[in-house]
Amino acid sequence: MSTIQDFTGYKPTWCSGCGNWGIGMAIKQTLVQLGLTPSDIAVVFGIGCSGNMNDFLNAYTIHSLHGRAIPNAIGIKLANHKLPVICVVGDGDCYGEGGNHLLHACRGNHDITVIVHDNRVYGLTTGQVAPTAQKGYQSKSTPAGIIEVPVNPLVLALTSGATFIAQAFAADAVQMATIIKAGIEHRGFSLINILQPCVTFNKVNTYQYYLQRSYKLEKNYQKDDFRSALNKSLELLEEKFPLGVIYQVKKPTYTESLPQIKEKPLVEKERFRDFEKIVKDFI
Ligand code: SF4
Repeated sequence: MSTIQDFTGYKPTWCSGCGNWGIGMAIKQTLVQLGLTPSDIAVVFGIGCSGNMNDFLNAYTIHSLHGRAIPNAIGIKLANHKLPVICVVGDGDCYGEGGNHLLHACRGNHDITVIVHDNRVYGLTTGQVAPTAQKGYQSKSTPAGIIEVPVNPLVLALTSGATFIAQAFAADAVQMATIIKAGIEHRGFSLINILQPCVTFNKVNTYQYYLQRSYKLEKNYQKDDFRSALNKSLELLEEKFPLGVIYQVKKPTYTESLPQIKEKPLVEKERFRDFEKIVKDFI
């Protein structure tokens, strides 16, 4: 039986009051609740304040290139589809630099869980505007206000084929852990968008801001209904934030659709054990 301590790495360097603290704790709690040990899971980080969790979480991790967490996670999953694989990324990393990877991961229903710290700014590089910021948001990179309209990650994922879409709030550790657990247990592509205040560089989208505009999904909400999920996702246009599992359906995953690895994962196949032989085959 693992403990929170088992998953604890170096002391986080996040600003005091940052939403990342709550998300980091919720991830650790979830891994403990799932009965996993640090060697039972692969975690791929993007670049950003969220990506710095690579040092704060004790597990098998990759701190990938900017925007490239998802293809790394897919590669791990293709090699060993029995292993739970999660990505921890920011909204800039996942919806900006890595936006194309997100779309195609959804299309393939790759069985990975993508947890997005959505704070609407590039916090690590001191507050430039990120893709989910509202039109007109003023930052040091957009002093006259951003011209582009915001990305709606929920609609994007839903209409691209994701089979699990959820939204959480960084101040609610209990709901976050419940949602992250459901996302990891889901077989197929899971997107969990977490509203995460950046207390240092985003003075608009604060804890108070989200408390006033978010609400938990009703108990009788039909999460397998595409139209309902689309309507809930579109509420982001009005800065209304439904919290909970917005969409979940069962469909074959990418690896389940590959006959070559139906019997056993690639890493368990004899010919993939001899790395030198593989290299020779290619020369
Ligand atoms: Fe958190 Fe913002 Fe500080 Fe980064 S800069 S650690 S996102 S509060």
